[in-house]
Amino acid sequence: MTELGFNVSYALSARSICRHCRKYIDKKALRIGQSIPNHYDEDNRGWDNLIYYYHAVCMFKKFDQDKPKDMKIKSPDDISYGFDNLKQEDKKTILELINDANVKWDNLFRQFRCLCAKLSDEDTGAGKTAIVSDFLKKGNAGTGFKGDVYLLMKFLLPGVVKTVYNLNDKDLIKLFSQIFGTNLKAMEEDLEQGDVSETVRVCFDKSKTVTPLKKSALTLQEADDLLTSLSQVTKESEQCKMLTKIVARCTSNDLMMVVRFITHDLGINAKAKYILRGLHPDAYEAFQVSQNLKDVVERVQSNTLHHMPGMEKKEKTDKKTGHDHSKSDGAKQGSSGSSDSVDVGVSKKKTPVKRPTEG
Ligand SMILES: [Zn+2]
Repeated sequence: MTELGFNVSYALSARSICRHCRKYIDKKALRIGQSIPNHYDEDNRGWDNLIYYYHAVCMFKKFDQDKPKDMKIKSPDDISYGFDNLKQEDKKTILELINDANVKWDNLFRQFRCLCAKLSDEDTGAGKTAIVSDFLKKGNAGTGFKGDVYLLMKFLLPGVVKTVYNLNDKDLIKLFSQIFGTNLKAMEEDLEQGDVSETVRVCFDKSKTVTPLKKSALTLQEADDLLTSLSQVTKESEQCKMLTKIVARCTSNDLMMVVRFITHDLGINAKAKYILRGLHPDAYEAFQVSQNLKDVVERVQSNTLHHMPGMEKKEKTDKKTGHDHSKSDGAKQGSSGSSDSVDVGVSKKKTPVKRPTEG
């Protein structure tokens, strides 16, 4: 019995049809097969699994439409057989498709939401540092975060890289009531429960004029572009137009997180130092020196954090003590105290709102 999963091969004939684009796969063309349970085997007679074939590119297009939990090829190890027998150029094609997909998946806003949910559930600062560190070490594929680290950190630190939106809770409610076609008074009453992002989420779900997307496809880049545009307008009509654009790209959970970002409170109750130390044990100290998040991220990535003016001393001290930063444990580092003048996402809400992370 063929095991469930993926294989790669060259089409033996021109008779198989790509299950994504519905076109024939040329003879000898590179194809990806996916073994799935045989749904014709209604009486459980142990029939062999079905294999659906796809053009290589089409397979990855299908992954984008699949649910987050569905099986995907995130590394060559996820291909059960056939990869080693491919021509060099086709191996390269597959590896590029995998890499491009991982970059895309790591840049999904949805991933950031899941990370925030985890951070919100963790009580200790050191634990939060470990979660961020682990997220960057693994990424969705387990082989390292391939997305835009600067944007991820920027989204995690809305109180630090502060963008001014000229929108308070009341403004937001007023604008969203127009966009959702929801009674303003009803939204204001809901807001009395204290969480504007939750009010917006609930009313988005109930809206009769706009429908939340069922599946989140928003990326960090797209969210950043939309939010930057929002920050550049001040007239109510323009803000309404920009928020309408944002709404059109969001699930209700996406929009809730976007609102939290606008109000500079992610509800993750994490000080900036714990988030930054997840990036690098010395990233918080470096940020205090330069106040430039982009520069800090770039220096961490190019391993030049200690070349930053004001950070050289730290390296010398460390050399004496033989402390190796590249191997230091984020969690341990996170617990060591130092001044924490910069706070981020410190929730004013007493009870964190539990929310689904799917969708
Ligand atoms: Zn196809």
